[in-house]
Amino acid sequence: MKCHVCGAGMQEMKTDLPFKINERSIIVVRDVPVIQCSGCREYMLSDEVMERLDELLAGVNSNADLEIVRFAA
Ligand SMILES: [Zn+2]
Repeated sequence: MKCHVCGAGMQEMKTDLPFKINERSIIVVRDVPVIQCSGCREYMLSDEVMERLDELLAGVNSNADLEIVRFAA
């Protein structure tokens, strides 16, 4: 698979991704499986991972400014 931005090779890896869920709160999800470009910062998420993230973010009930959760429950 090639990056649609720069054309470099993409590889599967795990990374930490921040999601802003409302005006005040940011959730950082650790160890998310992504397909990342080796040439730039572009990455892709599989449908499966997107669904899991949706569930995960919907399940977080926090008023904290910053919450950190692991992707693998
Ligand atoms: Zn790229």
